[in-house]
Amino acid sequence: MKLDPQRQKTLLELANLERSLASGVSGRVSPEQETLDRLEAEQIRLRDAASAAQMAVDDIDNEILRIQSDERKLRRRKKDGQDALGAETDPERRRDLTHDVYTAKSRIADLMSELQEAHNEIHALRNNRDLAQERIRQQEQRIEGAREARDAAVAATAQVEDPRDIITRLAESLPADVIAEYERQRAENGVGVAQFNGRSCTGCAMVLPAGPIALVRNTPADVLPQCPECGSYLVRNHA
Ligand SMILES: [Zn+2]
Repeated sequence: MKLDPQRQKTLLELANLERSLASGVSGRVSPEQETLDRLEAEQIRLRDAASAAQMAVDDIDNEILRIQSDERKLRRRKKDGQDALGAETDPERRRDLTHDVYTAKSRIADLMSELQEAHNEIHALRNNRDLAQERIRQQEQRIEGAREARDAAVAATAQVEDPRDIITRLAESLPADVIAEYERQRAENGVGVAQFNGRSCTGCAMVLPAGPIALVRNTPADVLPQCPECGSYLVRNHA
């Protein structure tokens, strides 16, 4: 196939574009979108951790309320016992009442130490909860940055010409018989036109033996030789 070296490059550009379009390269998720997806997935885990931390705080809060309510009841029982003791003269009844007051006092002491423990614990749990919420805020900022980067990448891609339009434009700049032959060969092996990098064909990735390499090299510059392996027309690097 005859074509001047300058337009051979145009034909190669056209063939390469059609191959990358067919392999779906342009449909891939951008690295900016991947980063955003990853950060958003992490944020879900951070929110789960924060809500677990909040639940731990709520549990201790309820525990403290329970202790305080028990304490009020016991103090009332202790006071009732002491009041009754002041008016009671029967020794057996006095012994029972004294025992009741003693039990209430001892239970109150236990509750006070439980309360102290809960207060110590809630301090650590609140810190933990605050830290988890701070992580969410920091992650939100990262997500905001990643979203801007993603939007910028989308806008930049939108400004790039659609590869299909470029293919049409390139095809129109080449002779119709060349395009027809290229299409025929492309229908045959899915490539049509490939680059020859000095030793191998980029269409089939085969390193050619010395004989065919010499044949390709000795072909006149305005003629496209064919790969002996896959039949693609080869475009050489012309100095
Ligand atoms: Zn080949």
